[in-house]
Amino acid sequence: MQAIIPFIHQLFSETIQEGDFVIDATLGNGHDSVMLSQLVGDSGKVFAFDIQQEAIDQAEQLFQENNCTNIHTFLKGHEFATDVLDEQAINQIDGAIFNLGYLPGSDQQVTTTEKTTIQAIDHLLGRLKPGGHIGIVIYPGHPEGRQEKDAVMDYLSKLPSKLADVAKYQMVNRSERAPFAVIIQKN
Ligand code: SAM
Repeated sequence: MQAIIPFIHQLFSETIQEGDFVIDATLGNGHDSVMLSQLVGDSGKVFAFDIQQEAIDQAEQLFQENNCTNIHTFLKGHEFATDVLDEQAINQIDGAIFNLGYLPGSDQQVTTTEKTTIQAIDHLLGRLKPGGHIGIVIYPGHPEGRQEKDAVMDYLSKLPSKLADVAKYQMVNRSERAPFAVIIQKN
């Protein structure tokens, strides 16, 4: 049985290919971007977003250590992702990852929020190629995260099945506050 983040990484390793364009909607320390960078290779691109310079600086160090030259970082909220990508990229998104919450070891007040998270998912889903996936790790263990979980799950539960299938991966014998994953597959 996979843990939550490895489950998302496995799904992407089975579906993302060399040359793909993918989005890391919450760059943080950069671990998801490094994984995506290795999957898409030199002919692909990773577009990574975070609102904290601290996250970008830490992640860029990790990219250097891992020789990742195909990651493009943006000091910008993911709700603006579809506004800043050029025409080629915006029409070629194969997948996106959201790892919600706050930067580990940093200010817990700077966290993803229900409004901008839903806006970003909605914009990206509109641009995602059919068959593409959005993987979301949700953290209901802190107050803003609980609110965000309720709002995001409500939004996802109402997505028309013609547009997308949505599945949840959660350990049922853990606290309700434990993180879980949601996968959106665009139809
Ligand atoms: N993916 C990261 C990794 O592999 O290390 C972990 C991400 S961390 C749990 C969540 C990040 O989302 C934080 O760095 C935070 O600054 C960022 N964040 C918060 N609001 C955001 C927004 N509107 N757009 C983009 N990033 C945001």
